Amino acid sequence: MNVMNVPRCFSAQILVHVGFLTEESGDVFSPKVLKGGPLGEMVQWADILTALHVLGHNLKISMSVKELHGFLGVPPGRGSCPLTGPLPFDLIYTDYHGLQQMKQHMGLSLKKHKCHIRVIDTFGTEPAYNHEEYATLHGYRTNWGYWNLNARQYMTMFPHTPDNSFMGFVSEELNETEKRNIQQNKVNNMAVVYGKEASMWKGKEGFLQILHRYMEVHGTVYYETQRPPEVPAYVKNHGLLPQHELQQLLRKAKLFIGFGFPYEGPAPLEAIANGCIFLQPKFQPPRSSLNHEFFRGKPTSRGVSSQHPYAEQYIGRPHVMTVDYNNSQEFDTAIREIMRTKVEPYLPYEYTCEGMLERVHAYIQNQDFCVPEPPFPLGNLSKPLASSMSPGPLFVPLPNTTALGWAANVTPPPVWPPVSSLRLLASQEGQSCIETCQSARLVCEPAHFRFINNKEALRGLDVQCEALDSESNHVLPAFSVARRECSLQQDPLLFSCAGHSPRYRRLCPCRDFRRGQVALCRECL
Ligand code: UDP
Repeated sequence: MNVMNVPRCFSAQILVHVGFLTEESGDVFSPKVLKGGPLGEMVQWADILTALHVLGHNLKISMSVKELHGFLGVPPGRGSCPLTGPLPFDLIYTDYHGLQQMKQHMGLSLKKHKCHIRVIDTFGTEPAYNHEEYATLHGYRTNWGYWNLNARQYMTMFPHTPDNSFMGFVSEELNETEKRNIQQNKVNNMAVVYGKEASMWKGKEGFLQILHRYMEVHGTVYYETQRPPEVPAYVKNHGLLPQHELQQLLRKAKLFIGFGFPYEGPAPLEAIANGCIFLQPKFQPPRSSLNHEFFRGKPTSRGVSSQHPYAEQYIGRPHVMTVDYNNSQEFDTAIREIMRTKVEPYLPYEYTCEGMLERVHAYIQNQDFCVPEPPFPLGNLSKPLASSMSPGPLFVPLPNTTALGWAANVTPPPVWPPVSSLRLLASQEGQSCIETCQSARLVCEPAHFRFINNKEALRGLDVQCEALDSESNHVLPAFSVARRECSLQQDPLLFSCAGHSPRYRRLCPCRDFRRGQVALCRECL
């Protein structure tokens, strides 16, 4: 990888406060690191620290509230003393635990400094859950959300909702020789089961039996002295492996198989990068905080359509097969197909070292939540708009700077992502802007909502509005075909790619993206 290609524009003072590893948060992760507990978050934090360091920024790392105080300049023993002076950091990367700790110790001054914060948030936070008052009034209140941040300040592990920024992590990339060797040494009937904790194998005997009919089954299940009873005797269990040894195992295996848990971890990407096919269960209906215990209380209603939706939707066949495990015939057929299929090791660019550095660098140089965004025109609300309704998605001409809300004689600050990437589409009723943009091979760009929240955009879509008002609702801007009503968004904090309503067709700000790097538009670099 050529790090020299990444221009260094400014070197930031950065604090990384890993809240979930502090004693004060009850740190449930560290004691389980060597016992099959979750490691995905550790992988991500390690990669974030490395990326920030490699990009040349000045880092301070804190793993306790005491260190946090030290770095923020709050005297020990005066926990409630607010930070009165300027913040000694350009950026603070933390998580929800860390945010809570910062609130406790910075008091009201957190509000003043919060535009500098980035929250590492595995599963994502949708705008309706982030907006304190709206969440409380409309049933979106959870233990986690309600911080009133710009939703792009939350940074996720996979590109979940584009309302958040996609931070990601890195998986090891192979050179051409390694790829060739792997393909030559693949053992066609060797499967590795995804699941390092015995509980993940519970109740899976039926699938394991079918699998074992065709393949030698390997596992990396943690155990202390005795083989866990959940792991059948015919399984070759290696115990929890150091990562390098796991990679070696994956290089030989043909199949990496998930039994439904854990959700959305790094291991399937590592397996695919090492030339395995990943087989996983489809979830029908999709699991979410509304219907599934694991996701309950998470500040998102995103539906998880399989064990690893990124692998399903962004990678797909032949590297990933997502099937209905309740149908044993389908499961059986999938295994036989996998044994016949030849695949090359594959890693999406956004999960390579270079891809992560490129993305993190672009965010640091361009995302600035401290500068107030220009006002967006709400249009003349009294005049009805006259034109005919058009059913399909449409493109409108891009707004000029005056239409964006700036006076003609004022030079606006650079807009990022650039407005040239904007394509306006109308959703179908009940459809979110995530789906609408996706179906046009684009991605929803929340930063562009302010440019389409106006009469001109409605007119550009040929929408006929007999009434036009503005409200605070996370599905706006939108229009109702039946009632010929149009509504604009009143509160920019509620602009949401994820929102949808059967009563409305939404105005969606879509944008293009770079191949293999969905976080960045074509002209974003
Ligand atoms: N891992 C490992 N040894 C093992 C099994 C897993 O080092 O025997 C690593 C794996 O390479 C990955 C990390 O654990 O980088 C997290 O894996 P997983 O996808 O299981 O996610 P989690 O549920 O732990 O977040």
